Amino acid sequence: MWSLRAWRRRRILARHPISPATWAAVRQHLPLLDGLDETEDQRLRERAQLFLHHKHLTALPGVELDELARLTLAAQAELPLLHLAERDWYRGFHEIVLYPDDFLSPQRHRDASGVVHEWDAAHSGEAWQQGPVILAWPGVQASGDWDAYNLVIHELAHKLDMLGGDANGLPPLHRDMRVSDWASAMQSAYDRLNAQLDANPAADTAIDPYAAEDPAEFFAVTSEYFFSAPDLLAAAFPAVYAQLKLFYRQDPLARLQRLQTAHPDYRTRTNEGHCTTNG
Ligand SMILES: [Zn+2]
Repeated sequence: MWSLRAWRRRRILARHPISPATWAAVRQHLPLLDGLDETEDQRLRERAQLFLHHKHLTALPGVELDELARLTLAAQAELPLLHLAERDWYRGFHEIVLYPDDFLSPQRHRDASGVVHEWDAAHSGEAWQQGPVILAWPGVQASGDWDAYNLVIHELAHKLDMLGGDANGLPPLHRDMRVSDWASAMQSAYDRLNAQLDANPAADTAIDPYAAEDPAEFFAVTSEYFFSAPDLLAAAFPAVYAQLKLFYRQDPLARLQRLQTAHPDYRTRTNEGHCTTNG
């Protein structure tokens, strides 16, 4: 059956071809894509092209955005959607603004006695309801490995969360998922992390303590780990990993383990959680 959507899509892809050499360079920049099979690789490549067609990347002075950089960002943006039905998951924004460095943004925090503190904090990313995604370029450049950090996936997870209204840690779940399962997995892990930090604010937590900030950050940080440190997340919070696996419909832990089985020294972690091959 002829479809306007498919025709448009083919036209966009034909107009902005990616050379095999450029895509190979993208793959080399992004170890967290290692182990994708050929179908996934091809799909990600097309979706990264379409992403760049639909979203406007605005580079502020000091940010050098060439084709490789744009594709590297787009490939990470599309990784979480790779096994989701093709609908407009990122419909909540049209623009990504790239800052040359961390930026200041007014912050608020209500402490246990109800006092709201406000201060300026250096941020590397922000996603506003109905607004653009803001990313600090050094954070984008530091993303892409299996090292428990991915600014692109973190901020775009906030956008998925916002599809259901305010960011509250509950993105629109699929029909085969249950809100009660999601809520109990997320809440108990969130409570455990907070209890650990309440007992000792300097505690060496299994995942970034920023996840304890609020449920929206918990979802964004655990999404970031799901794709960039699935082994750490699955070990610390298996029920959270299981829910994210149902939501994203992929299993990065299995992919990482296949890579490690094939190459025994592939990205094995030190005690600090860093990958030994990171440099
Ligand atoms: Zn966040």
